[in-house]
Amino acid sequence: PPPGTPDIEIARAVQPQSILLLAQQRLGLAADSLIPFGHYKAKLDTRHVGPVDPASFGRLVLVTAITPTPAGEGKTTTSVGLNDGFNQLGVRSSVCLREPSLGPCFGMKGGAAGGGRAQVIPMEDINLHFNGDFHAITAAHNLLASILDNHIHWGNEAGLDPRHVYWRRVLDLNDRALRNTIVGLGGSAHGLPRETGFDITVASEIMAILCMADDLTDLRQRLGRIIVGRRHDHTPVTVSDLGVEGALAILLRDALQPNLVQSLEHNPVFIHGGPFANIAHGCNSVMATRYALSLNDVVVTEAGFGADLGAEKFIDIKCRQSGLSPDAVVLVCTVRALKMQGGMRKVDLARPDLAALHEGAANLERHILNLRQFGLTPVVSINRFPTDAEEELIAIQAICRELGVNAVVANHWALGGAGATDLAQAVLDQMAEGSPEVQPLYPDHWTLVEKIETIASRLYHAGDVAFSADARRQLEEYQQLGFGHLPVCIAKTQYSFSADPKLRGAPSGHTLPVREVRLSAGAGFVVAVCGDIMTMPGLPRRPAALDMGLNAEGDVYGLV
Ligand code: ADP
Ligand code: MG
Repeated sequence: PPPGTPDIEIARAVQPQSILLLAQQRLGLAADSLIPFGHYKAKLDTRHVGPVDPASFGRLVLVTAITPTPAGEGKTTTSVGLNDGFNQLGVRSSVCLREPSLGPCFGMKGGAAGGGRAQVIPMEDINLHFNGDFHAITAAHNLLASILDNHIHWGNEAGLDPRHVYWRRVLDLNDRALRNTIVGLGGSAHGLPRETGFDITVASEIMAILCMADDLTDLRQRLGRIIVGRRHDHTPVTVSDLGVEGALAILLRDALQPNLVQSLEHNPVFIHGGPFANIAHGCNSVMATRYALSLNDVVVTEAGFGADLGAEKFIDIKCRQSGLSPDAVVLVCTVRALKMQGGMRKVDLARPDLAALHEGAANLERHILNLRQFGLTPVVSINRFPTDAEEELIAIQAICRELGVNAVVANHWALGGAGATDLAQAVLDQMAEGSPEVQPLYPDHWTLVEKIETIASRLYHAGDVAFSADARRQLEEYQQLGFGHLPVCIAKTQYSFSADPKLRGAPSGHTLPVREVRLSAGAGFVVAVCGDIMTMPGLPRRPAALDMGLNAEGDVYGLV
């Protein structure tokens, strides 16, 4: 395609293969192991396929990134391209990704099915309503909200303190006007007035639960453990206390089955679950990763945001709970992001600037050293942008050589899998040297405070952690209630190692402010909210939605 061709046009120019045929030929799955949604999308019928055997698992490659620019540095694009690269080398490989949310699609960031020649198709279906999973999660979340208000209305047998109901409502859109609301207005027939609000569906604990669940039984148990609020004596009220984990599970039965689609090069792609990378752990479902590992020799997967957040949570939360472990890690780096870390303004990033790039290399180095703390040596993938100057690419490779890691220029965005075979080969070479001894950053038995302080000092290089009075009280309370063994999930800006998005490079000695702490007892982690974290984004002044529509043939345009 000529330069400047929109992603959706590149995607639509490729005729997808029948997903049933692809599943059969590429994954050895018979047609009755799949539930087709039209011709090109299917859900894996896990009840038919049966449980997986970890002894048969292929190798897991985690794709993470340096500190991103607001546009994103290309983790999804690299994951898709790397998977196509592996397949070009004859390796039986699939990629596992998160499902896109409608909020960013119509807002600023656009879709999340890769870009250029490294995309997943059918792109518009994946970006919009994809097999109904998010709608099911929205429905389950809001069913719980309605049961809860109904419970209070009819006498509040569980003794919930209406001023301390934590469970809000969700919607899979960016809608700032719904962040804070009052429900139950209009008189006693309409419930008890109380202040609440809406979050985006990807921030729902049910989204995180769906992604952490081993199977239907585990899903139901996790749903039962959700804490919806507290009583006047401060004891927690759970979904089990309200008796609705069964009803919530019904709504999620189909959503729990992993989705299968294909890349532009007709390689298998699992897309399942989409938890936020701030308030939750930010990677696709454990079930999708496990099934993909059981059906392939190599599985590529992506964790949201930079490695300080995504890779840390992948290992300390997802791997800890599921027993999965990465065999290799790819650290995506771009010339643009390095220059931005080196102090360049966003509008200037297309201009070659070796000085800014060298300045920004401190950020790359910090991420590499952090990954080493987990026992992982990354392969750096330089995601090539059309604006990159040759000498800038060479400079990054030289910097990486000095840091003792391999760096490969990857050009999958322009060339598809053929542009990522060097990267794929470098990852294979590294894995051939032996499996890494991956260890989490902290053991289960440390206190929640110790866990937060460890992440802050060892990964963020914070000088200290400032817990608000509320946060201290909450941490003490969760510790006393028996949740001290859980891992912590740090919710902070993705734009800096610190909690201040303006502090670039590799800042040290800053203070990590922990404003509040939330317990996600069903998902199985404690969220430490550092700084301002949005659980219901707003739309920009000029939303992407203004440029979108359908043509007379019913084809979508304007989706990026
Ligand atoms: P992430 O997963 O890290 O958020 P994405 O892979 O979604 O990032 O990419 C973010 C945006 O950047 C997408 O619109 C994608 O098309 C674009 N992009 C990614 N890699 C390149 C590249 N090499 N050249 C040009 N645009 C790219
Ligand atoms: Mg992504």
